[in-house]
Amino acid sequence: MDLSYQKTKELLESHGIRPTSQRLEMAHLLLEKHQHLFAEEVFQLVNTHFPHASRATIFNNLKLFAEKGLLGTLELKSGVTHFDSNTNTHHHALNENSGEIVDIELNQSLEKTVLAELKRSYFEKTGKELDQAKLVITLRGK
Ligand SMILES: [Zn+2]
Repeated sequence: MDLSYQKTKELLESHGIRPTSQRLEMAHLLLEKHQHLFAEEVFQLVNTHFPHASRATIFNNLKLFAEKGLLGTLELKSGVTHFDSNTNTHHHALNENSGEIVDIELNQSLEKTVLAELKRSYFEKTGKELDQAKLVITLRGK
């Protein structure tokens, strides 16, 4: 993704985030490609480029980005959050061997069909409505 600083600034603003220079640098690093990172990995990434940025500021910004929907969050195991720079509708495949997480996109009609089927099945088993669902597929591969 070819992401300019101007575009990053617009993204911050459109998510209701005041674009301070640190937030701009950080958002640019995170959003320039699709990636799934733990908070600690985000810290390492930002710290490599901007050693002056404090851990607290980075974590606060990260929390803000997730709250405002600039980043998605993904919990593959309970209590462990990945921050996801791809906020388009998508699902995930987790490679059990390598730990790699891959974005999986379904075409629109399949997406609708899968969601409808999940809703139906979930309701049948729990009596509860489902508004949204993201799949995590676990696979083993090289
Ligand atoms: Zn993703």
